[in-house]
Amino acid sequence: MLQLPDDFQPALLPGGDADAPNWWFVFAGGNLLVRPTASGVELPVASIWPFAKLPTTRRLYLGALRGRPCHAAEVETTAPPPPGMQFQGLRALWTRLDEGLLGVASQAAQLIEWDRTHQFCGQCGAPTQRRADERARHCAACGLTAYPRLSPVIMVRVVRDGQILLARAPRFAPGVYSVLAGFVEAGETLEQAIHREIAEEVNIQVRNLRYFASQSWPFPHSLMIAFTAEYAGGEVRVDGRELLDAGWFAPDALPGLPSPMSMAWRLIQDFVAGRMDRA
Ligand SMILES: [Zn+2]
Repeated sequence: MLQLPDDFQPALLPGGDADAPNWWFVFAGGNLLVRPTASGVELPVASIWPFAKLPTTRRLYLGALRGRPCHAAEVETTAPPPPGMQFQGLRALWTRLDEGLLGVASQAAQLIEWDRTHQFCGQCGAPTQRRADERARHCAACGLTAYPRLSPVIMVRVVRDGQILLARAPRFAPGVYSVLAGFVEAGETLEQAIHREIAEEVNIQVRNLRYFASQSWPFPHSLMIAFTAEYAGGEVRVDGRELLDAGWFAPDALPGLPSPMSMAWRLIQDFVAGRMDRA
């Protein structure tokens, strides 16, 4: 489950013991700097920036995890990693990096991306500055404030007669099917977004929407909001572009599934567990 750990205290500025070991979340082109170990990977730990030969393009203080200060930093995309270390994508670090650290890394990745893409005011073009009292960038010329952005995505598990609706998009790995998902559009409620996406993508209607769970998804700044629903009418049909295929699957005959790190995987596993309990 990708989320900020409960023992993380967010903050804009460091406080407390300056000599304490600090965690460094260092990104190059969206990939995190890690040191492979026998059992997984670990993050750099040091009281000050530990890589003198690696200049940073930006740094952000994040807060403290288990009493240790956490910093996000970005280096040039082409920067070579220090000896014995590697830059790796967050998806590849699932189960290899401590889950709490991965949750903080998810926030770090999103804040770095937001800071880099809001250097100039979207309204007047003047340079922006970080605010000292909140996580925001401010334009002194026109007064506009930009906050870290989140893009809400609805995800829905539709069930009909004990079978789950799964679909395959062109970007998926070979053989993989997943539940339906889509971005919420301006002016919509989450419920409206679900009904629209389902109708657009597979041509059916659903009913009895129930909230399931949510999850941060830092690729690059999504918030996944998952629901369950029942089939209510229509015949499944896909357009062959957004979706290549869709169909109803029994719990004991599922196709390839998305990563266990994903909200979709949890929705599908919950369906399988529920069906097996009843069998
Ligand atoms: Zn401005």
